[in-house]
Amino acid sequence: MVHRHHERIHIDDRNLCKLCINELGDLYMDLGLSADELELLAMPRRSFTFHFPVRMDSGKTRMFVGHRIQYNDARGPTKGGLRFHPELTVDDVRDLAFLMVLKCAVVNIPFGGSKGGVVVNPKELSKNELEQVTRAYIRAIQDYIGPFKDIPAPDVYTDEHIMVWILDEYERIKGQHVPAVVTGKPYELQGIKARTYSTSLGGIYVLEEAMKRLRMSKARARVSVQGFGHVGENAARILFEEGFKIVAVSDSKGGTMNSRGLDIHKVMQHKEKTGSVADFKGGRNISNAELLTSDCDILIPAALSDQLNKENAGRVRAKIVLELANAPTTTEADQIFSKKGIMLVPDVLANAGGVVVSYFEWSQSLTNEYWDEEKVLRKLKSVMITAFHDVFALCENRCRMRRAAYQLAVRRILHAERMRGNL
Ligand code: NAD
Repeated sequence: MVHRHHERIHIDDRNLCKLCINELGDLYMDLGLSADELELLAMPRRSFTFHFPVRMDSGKTRMFVGHRIQYNDARGPTKGGLRFHPELTVDDVRDLAFLMVLKCAVVNIPFGGSKGGVVVNPKELSKNELEQVTRAYIRAIQDYIGPFKDIPAPDVYTDEHIMVWILDEYERIKGQHVPAVVTGKPYELQGIKARTYSTSLGGIYVLEEAMKRLRMSKARARVSVQGFGHVGENAARILFEEGFKIVAVSDSKGGTMNSRGLDIHKVMQHKEKTGSVADFKGGRNISNAELLTSDCDILIPAALSDQLNKENAGRVRAKIVLELANAPTTTEADQIFSKKGIMLVPDVLANAGGVVVSYFEWSQSLTNEYWDEEKVLRKLKSVMITAFHDVFALCENRCRMRRAAYQLAVRRILHAERMRGNL
């Protein structure tokens, strides 16, 4: 049961999206949500948990647990990643599926949101076992996925090769080619140009709009990036190539800083050689904690969740925080940033470039028309800038962009529900 402003809303606790209630709780009054609207948003439409056997290389059979949650499909087929992780829980999957619903609505692409995964440590599996787990997962869920139902994509520990196994297994079952059943495919197999850096570039398009609002110049902007993986490394590289000064970067082993600017190409070579950005000759070593409060204008968390919290938010010196990671800022830190006048560009907007390009890939796979890189980037830029303006238009004097983004997404989802006759 959820209590909110003297109203009692009866919701089956087992199916409740905790993140949804936390996030929407604050907005409940602002948006004037009714109890039935909140209840509709707080529960996923379909949740699957299934157990499937896989014959391991040893000849023994092992049972695996898989989840898929199709949270809301009022705006279109559900879209969401597939995660392989030993600690994956159904609660994580539900929260992540809810975030996907919001993200797709913020950037206004015709998808609902979903998420799925298998409880497994892929590092403990052979390549053959990983393939068998992927194929068995798809066999278990085959009736409920498809280009117009639910479209998986890569997530933590699932790469483009796993997407090919998904494609192949689904096509074997259906007896025909169905390339739009999955996104994140390699370019050679109906994938899309620019996919590998689309999340980072989408965030940079939004960042440039935010900087215009604050009248910040690219030439003078100093940037710190936490995380040097897929998203953080590409963001640092693109910004460096565009003339921004990157003053600090870090990864799980530590960070490096140079107030005169780091040569990111050289940092990338150093990481390639040593496995980390730490001990880079062109900078001095710093900890991850130092990076977050370093002297910079733009702070980009691109690693883990809850990195910016009530302990360190007061010491953050940046003017803009661009959330390329999912949920890197706690609610308390969000409030502190708002009081300090720091502009926080929220994850559901800042890192949505990946799902936007997935939408383009899906659309290419349906039409068999393939775009060049220039067209993909032009369309990505247009979607991201429009989304920024849509969100910004909802901000009042002291703009809290997360609130505005959620407000925009919820309005769009409820509008679709209303038109369908569900409200
Ligand atoms: P990744 O695994 O490629 O990289 C993660 C990076 O974070 C690595 O460099 C790792 O060393 C670093 N890291 C780990 N622990 C750290 C710590 N304590 N301090 C500093 N750095 C640490 O993952 P990714 O795909 O780059 O994803 C990063 C974030 O972006 C995640 O929150 C993910 O959910 C989010 N995200 C990714 C995409 C995408 O397209 N890959 C899309 C949307 C959101």
